[in-house]
Amino acid sequence: MKNYRINKNNNTNPGGHNEVHNQDCRYYNQLTNYEYLGQHPNCYSAVSEAKRRGYERADGCAICSGPCNNG
Ligand SMILES: [Zn+2]
Repeated sequence: MKNYRINKNNNTNPGGHNEVHNQDCRYYNQLTNYEYLGQHPNCYSAVSEAKRRGYERADGCAICSGPCNNG
């Protein structure tokens, strides 16, 4: 299980996504405007939790959550 955070800023990437990062990502501790998503076994679970909370544009970070990254 890893801790996940979602970036509440969605203007940092071309797709306008809210990117989801896990604790191992170099961006995790750099997020200044984020919501904690809790602990998840994988990025799929974390992204679906984010969507459940209303982040329709949630997407996995290309670096730490590659399998969940859609651009
Ligand atoms: Zn990341």
